[in-house]
Amino acid sequence: MYMFKIKAISKKSKARIGQLKTSHGIVESPFFLPIATQAAVRNLTPEELKIMRAQIILSNTYHLFLRPGIKVIEKSGDLHKFMNWTGPILTDSGGYQVFSLAKARKIKPGGVKFKSEIDGKEFFLTPQKAIKIQQALGSDIMMALDVLVGYPYTYKEAEGATRLTLRWAKKCKEEQLKSKRVKQLLFGIVQGGVYKDLRHWCAEELTRMDFDGYAIGGLTVGEPVQKAFAIIRFLTNYLPINKPRYLMGAGKPEQIVRAVKYGIDMFDCVLPTRHGRHGDLFIWKTRPADFFKKRKFYEILHITNAKFKDDVRPLDSRCSCYACQNFSRSYLHHLFRTHEPLALRLATIHNLSFYLDLMKEIKKAIKNGYL
Ligand SMILES: [Zn+2]
Repeated sequence: MYMFKIKAISKKSKARIGQLKTSHGIVESPFFLPIATQAAVRNLTPEELKIMRAQIILSNTYHLFLRPGIKVIEKSGDLHKFMNWTGPILTDSGGYQVFSLAKARKIKPGGVKFKSEIDGKEFFLTPQKAIKIQQALGSDIMMALDVLVGYPYTYKEAEGATRLTLRWAKKCKEEQLKSKRVKQLLFGIVQGGVYKDLRHWCAEELTRMDFDGYAIGGLTVGEPVQKAFAIIRFLTNYLPINKPRYLMGAGKPEQIVRAVKYGIDMFDCVLPTRHGRHGDLFIWKTRPADFFKKRKFYEILHITNAKFKDDVRPLDSRCSCYACQNFSRSYLHHLFRTHEPLALRLATIHNLSFYLDLMKEIKKAIKNGYL
């Protein structure tokens, strides 16, 4: 039985089309994961996500672990049942949030000690525990616990974080192998900062541990974009060709296109939902089918801008989402100005549809030999 199958490879680049088999269905790659931090994609129902053809979502272990707590979710069965999402779910390990949100964080060889930013309660997150929590959540794809260093970092700091990431990855893998649960995939995360030798080393060691997929972590955290893409381009040469590759936390639409060309299959990013909440809409500038011919194939429309007050055109005339098919710029402008919650819902529906449509167009472009 296959887990990841490559269906087509571009003749122009390293882009590929694949199928990832999970316990909750097949996901066609390259794909984008809408973010459901608190077991909900903010402002949307699971039904709406299905209508816009979201294939898989990402949920955050750290947040759910602190609130409502794993016991509460287990009472419903698992995370799928708790939030009534029947498709696949990827959960992160909680590492990123521990490193970016938690208080009084202390890294030890065996795990990371931190205080909850909600109530100050102290926890010790080990690699084994990160897996156990994700197993209890019942996600389809689990992520290994990794170690992040904030940018800027020294070579020595990046090296130390990479070494510990590898040690923890091994513990995560051992924990996964112990389980007799329904098949949950486990991805390793390549760290190593902007240093090619560290990235290469990390990728090779993780490949030896034989994960179900490989993520690139610790990029787009403040380092120059060119450096990040040099690493991505370099790294995909060293990641197994027959396993999915996931660029964590990226990115802008043109960055996704670029990373797909380098051989990346999976993406998640807060931009569509966050921009939506601020009234910033992604609008196609060219016909979607032509996006690969221009670098700037979209623009950001600030719907709260006074010039949209009486603009009766659809939000985006090239988009077929519910918001664009039914409402004008003038109406959405009014909803934002009057702080109607519907404004956030419509803007989120449109922006996520834009990202999901982008992935569809990327697949088409790979198939037709344009990308
Ligand atoms: Zn739309």
